Amino acid sequence: MQYVVAQYRFLPYHGIKAYNFRMSEIKTNRRNFLRQLITLLVLPWSFSIRTAGAAVEELLGRVKRPRSYWKPLISQAAYDVLFKEETERAYSSPLYNEYREGHFVCAACYLPLFDSDKKYESGTGWPSFWQVLPAAVETKTDHSLFLQERTEYHCARCGGHHGHVFDDGPNPTGLRYCNNGVVLRFVPKAEALPELRG
Ligand SMILES: [Zn+2]
Repeated sequence: MQYVVAQYRFLPYHGIKAYNFRMSEIKTNRRNFLRQLITLLVLPWSFSIRTAGAAVEELLGRVKRPRSYWKPLISQAAYDVLFKEETERAYSSPLYNEYREGHFVCAACYLPLFDSDKKYESGTGWPSFWQVLPAAVETKTDHSLFLQERTEYHCARCGGHHGHVFDDGPNPTGLRYCNNGVVLRFVPKAEALPELRG
């Protein structure tokens, strides 16, 4: 400041310029300080959001594995359904009559797909559910049957085919997720869910 005053005294015009410069410098520094402070406060938060986002992506994101990766991990029957979109014989799955409390996970990647309290007796011969866990499956239109358009659904994580969803299910959704039992693994409530694989 003494320097500025001295300049102002002896070189009025340049002194004022210098003083103004100093003030703007102080303001700039204060802005920088605030910016740095905000960055310091926000950075860990944004990092944790990114980390959480990555975790969710990892949990629900598609696992890019070739079919050959899954083949040794699952039965041939499960492979045929998951990756060749075949359908198991009606009433052939022990899970059709499974009504214990628990979770149904994808037989390939172990992503939880259904909760037991959403399972119901559809009379179709395939395990049926009226609701799928949020974001657990993706759908596509299936034209494989002559003159019939169906909605196919597959595991959102590994992409394996699980079944078809119809709109003749019970309340409250009115949906029927008709799932091949061979591509599900039942985990009773008392047991921990298996770690995701793939
Ligand atoms: Zn899966």
